[in-house]
Amino acid sequence: MASLVERSQVQLAQNGERASISHRHRLHPIYLPALAFGALTCWVVFVAVTALLRDGQLGRVLAAGRAELAAPALAALVCATLVSERLWPAEPRRALARGHVQDACFLVLYAAAVVPLMTLLGVGFATLVGEHMRWIELSFTGHLPTWLLLAVALVAMDGANWVAHYADHRLQLLWRFHALHHSQEELSVLTSFRAHPVMHTTGFLLATLPVVALMGDRPMVPVLITAYVCVGTLQHANVRWSFGLLGKVVVSPAYHRLHHSLEATRTVNLGIALTLWDVLARCAQFPLPSDAACPTGLAGRPLAVEQAGRRARPLSFLAGQLLEPFATGRR
Ligand SMILES: [Zn+2]
Ligand SMILES: [Zn+2]
Repeated sequence: MASLVERSQVQLAQNGERASISHRHRLHPIYLPALAFGALTCWVVFVAVTALLRDGQLGRVLAAGRAELAAPALAALVCATLVSERLWPAEPRRALARGHVQDACFLVLYAAAVVPLMTLLGVGFATLVGEHMRWIELSFTGHLPTWLLLAVALVAMDGANWVAHYADHRLQLLWRFHALHHSQEELSVLTSFRAHPVMHTTGFLLATLPVVALMGDRPMVPVLITAYVCVGTLQHANVRWSFGLLGKVVVSPAYHRLHHSLEATRTVNLGIALTLWDVLARCAQFPLPSDAACPTGLAGRPLAVEQAGRRARPLSFLAGQLLEPFATGRR
């Protein structure tokens, strides 16, 4: 009887809690700052499409972006890394583990929608900077050799991406979008593509500034962008590679895994391609050969993860993951 009373009390409490949650959701179903950030992203894309249509360049620029960001070299790297993960896994697991299947859905999303989005974000921000901030262009760079300019621009772009990543971890609004990337508990090379599309806005905004300042209207060499994307992709591989001495300079899978660590007590290893910025910011933690592969993910699972509960349909789960940052609710 006592347990019956307790059960009914628990039931009442749960009903009350559910009612109050649904009431809160009715009042604030949408997190407005996230919606505004999404609208900003759409506006930059609109600026890019308008400018490209005016010049009759939309198709050509989208094709060029596809050639850079979805290059055959990137596809080959992903395939080779998937094989390496089977041969030398940092953390042994099934090939069709839930995390792998879910991240494969993100890979499809990347190829279909994120690549054109990233291309248009780059064009949109470059157009806006060209129209309103021409003064940031450094005139003396015109006298420098092209190879030197490209090298400096690439390093500066990596620094800007580090700042964007730092902001992702420090600002609540940006973390809402970045948390999805960190929610992966079964890290693999495919996790590189597990990112909310809106998450790319800050990086492209910040990276455009030094590139325009240094390069003006001159384009970056496509193969350099592809190489940069490849370095950023390999770092999620489920292998123990630390790159030896090179790993002191270039971000390795073992180094980046520590950034995803479930047990981390502070944010470390924010670098995209170079460790330089982490070293300067005193947040570099280099892996030791004796280190076991650390578990990854977010403590307490503040986001829904595919590893929890019954196996969900990957595509409907993906839709929920993409909508989640815009909704008030558990974070
Ligand atoms: Zn991060
Ligand atoms: Zn990562």
